[in-house]
Amino acid sequence: MLNQIKGLHHVTSMAANARVNNQFFTDILGLRRVKKTVNFDSPDVYHLYYGDEVGTPGSVMTYFPFPHIARGRFGTGEVGTTVFSVPKSSLPFWAARLQEKGVQGIEPGTSFGAPRLSFKGPDGESFALLEVENDARPGWSGNGISEDHAIRGFHSVSLRLKDSGATAELLRFMGYEQQDKAGAVSRLIVPGDAATVIDLETLPGVDHGRQGAGSVHHVAFAVDNRETQLAVRKALMDTGYHVTPVIDRDYFWAIYFRTPGGVLFEIATNEPGFERDEPRAELGQGLKLPQQHKHLRPILEQHLEKID
Ligand code: ZN
Repeated sequence: MLNQIKGLHHVTSMAANARVNNQFFTDILGLRRVKKTVNFDSPDVYHLYYGDEVGTPGSVMTYFPFPHIARGRFGTGEVGTTVFSVPKSSLPFWAARLQEKGVQGIEPGTSFGAPRLSFKGPDGESFALLEVENDARPGWSGNGISEDHAIRGFHSVSLRLKDSGATAELLRFMGYEQQDKAGAVSRLIVPGDAATVIDLETLPGVDHGRQGAGSVHHVAFAVDNRETQLAVRKALMDTGYHVTPVIDRDYFWAIYFRTPGGVLFEIATNEPGFERDEPRAELGQGLKLPQQHKHLRPILEQHLEKID
């Protein structure tokens, strides 16, 4: 069993409109945009990163806004709900705020006993805010949400699966243990400081999703550094997984593999981080391009929609 994985690193989804996406995560949810770059494999599309002040692993929601792509058909074989941690007693504030901003699908509830507020993103994707006691992570208050209410980062993601057996086995191999179970949902947790929870929803009668706007493209797990990433890669390959070579994503190194339930997993390093090419005070402001696409700057600056 592995012991290098520290919880979630980031969640990456697809959107239909960059400006709407940017406005939702910065103005409404109050996250900080910590990087404005492009999809390294398709540089005519933005890659937008939102998180806490510095984009600490475990706080980072990222998007590829493909202009005008069709909405995904949500189903199994993908991430269902992405859940952010908020301070205790902050949900009434959030319910009023989301209502006032016209957010769709607002629904109060509970998750394993904790108060939870579900809502939809601009492309119909499922989010929730969960009140978590003693989450010591600082929230970002630079976008008008006070420290008493600000999102701390991820609490968890849920994976929607036709059959969760093989994925649960993989997660146990990755260091997770079952913590609880309620109906069709199993809660797994890995030792770590935050963003340590994965919920597995078993939905045998639900068809596989079809990716599009609002779909989560992949979920990334955090390791400290490149050395531990290589150890995880080797262990996964020894177990029979087809894992990509290490890919330089400028702000972290990444490896990817498809899991038995259909969800694409990434293992990403906590180094070097988003301050690599911008000072902390200016994170997310300039258009940052990886070395291989630097020559495209004049074209991309013309072509990419202005988002703020
Ligand atoms: Zn990723």
